[in-house]
Amino acid sequence: MKANAPRRRCHAVWLATLLISLLGCGNEPVDPSTVAEPAAAPAKVYQWKIITTWPKFLPGAGMSAENLAERLRVMSDGRLDIRVYGAGELVGAFEVFDAVSAGNAEMGHGAAYYWRGKMPIAPLFSAIPFGMTAQEVNAWLRYGGGLELWRELYAPFNVVPFAAGNTGVQMAGWFNEEINALEDLAGLKMRIPGLGGEVLERSGGVPVNIPGGEVFTALQTGVIDATEWVGPYNDLALGLYSAGRYYYYPGWHEPGTVLELIVNRQAFEALPADLQAMIATTAQAINDDTLSDYTARSVAALETLEREHGVLLRLLPAEVIGKLRQASLQVVAETAGEDELSQRIYKSYTGFLNGVRRYTDLTEKAYLEIR
Ligand code: CA
Repeated sequence: MKANAPRRRCHAVWLATLLISLLGCGNEPVDPSTVAEPAAAPAKVYQWKIITTWPKFLPGAGMSAENLAERLRVMSDGRLDIRVYGAGELVGAFEVFDAVSAGNAEMGHGAAYYWRGKMPIAPLFSAIPFGMTAQEVNAWLRYGGGLELWRELYAPFNVVPFAAGNTGVQMAGWFNEEINALEDLAGLKMRIPGLGGEVLERSGGVPVNIPGGEVFTALQTGVIDATEWVGPYNDLALGLYSAGRYYYYPGWHEPGTVLELIVNRQAFEALPADLQAMIATTAQAINDDTLSDYTARSVAALETLEREHGVLLRLLPAEVIGKLRQASLQVVAETAGEDELSQRIYKSYTGFLNGVRRYTDLTEKAYLEIR
């Protein structure tokens, strides 16, 4: 027994030491992150500007850039700090592409058809008359080779494009007078950008291209007789109902307009890979989100336009649609021009459209007709 006594004492001391250490008594608390770790360098913050072709905070299109900047700020934990500028705040709506190309802003948000003067084929990456719907054009861009061609087209300008929003099928627009026959288009001064404008011209009208922020005044003061803009959600926000009484559909000229995010190439390439991936993924999320926003909010906006503002909805007559379709086929074919890249883009777009048209007829269209 006696021989065991020192051993028991030894055990008791050992147990007490163990308990003290388990209970944390008698020891200074140790933060594991400070043990043998070098101090982390503060994360580099990229302070960027995104300039847009939209009036500041315009519902839908204008909010795409705001939402994009906010999501990127949160996801990057503040490393991508992007300030949003509406049209005219830093540069005019139609100067966005050049400013991003020159690196005066790292990012821009707009639509490819605004750059038609620089690249006649560009409208194929936003919308063409009687072209693809949102669902179809997204399929072409992502899985039909469209995005690669778009990147190739913008590459000489030092600009990287991403699809970042879609309006869905737009409305044909606001008219001071009813359109009952083809003759009613004769001499009609209408704000309608891109290829739609050219089609209108061949159908007797006079296209005018002015930024969204100036449309209301132009229609109200009689500078123009008609205007298209987007659809109920945006058109209500701009107050177009008080400048034009008749609201025509469908938007033959913009059946699924892609909004674009453009990024200056050097700025993009200077980013670490994780931030580049965040931009690409966020653009895709915004592309989807904007279409949902337009669809959901246009329902309520249309009701407000009709009930509160007495707007009169009108379907474009078949004769007018027939003429516009015929002119559209010519105008779009001519847009392909002579150069090799434009030809490839035209063939890719029209090839995909011809294929997907039949599939859409068998699925979406057939379903919508029985619903
Ligand atoms: Ca439009």
